Amino acid sequence: MNDPGNPAPGALEAVRGFVDTHDIYNGRDELADVEAATEWLTAEGLWGKGRSMTGRELSALHELRDALRAMAAANTLGEQPPRAAVDSFNDLAAPHAASVRLDVRNGSGPMTASLRPHEEGIGGVVAVLAAAVHEAVLLGTWTRLKSCDNPECRWLFYDESRNRAARWCSMRGCGSIVKARRYRDRQRRSAGHAP
Ligand SMILES: [Zn+2]
Repeated sequence: MNDPGNPAPGALEAVRGFVDTHDIYNGRDELADVEAATEWLTAEGLWGKGRSMTGRELSALHELRDALRAMAAANTLGEQPPRAAVDSFNDLAAPHAASVRLDVRNGSGPMTASLRPHEEGIGGVVAVLAAAVHEAVLLGTWTRLKSCDNPECRWLFYDESRNRAARWCSMRGCGSIVKARRYRDRQRRSAGHAP
């Protein structure tokens, strides 16, 4: 149903937004081709105006998005991420470096730290998203980023529930759809066994 829900904390929201560019439930993809992808990334401040993208770079974005969704789906089930997704992420992230950037504001307030990519274009996009995943894993927020357990939806959402047990992007939407489907399947099975 693609309930946007509450934003994920910190940089993790950028990861959720990136994966949810593919709206499976409604069959829409904001990264469908290089034109659409360039437009979306530019609007997000992740792409320099006038910079072009190759088909290969677009494929890398799709691969990264698939890997992130597969890892989020494992979070939904409370499982370890699939090895192939982790390898895919590592292969994509490896060539793109980022540096630690410290900042102090004038006056008071604590020093802040962030990771800044070395490159513009695709390398920068991958580095920014990889840094966001790094931050989330360290903060313990990563395992709350989940992919909706309705196979027709798979929307990424941030699970804020106390027991970390949310499985659907929306309890009233996908949750009730899946539960109703299971109920009908059970009815059908028991009807089939009737004499
Ligand atoms: Zn859903």
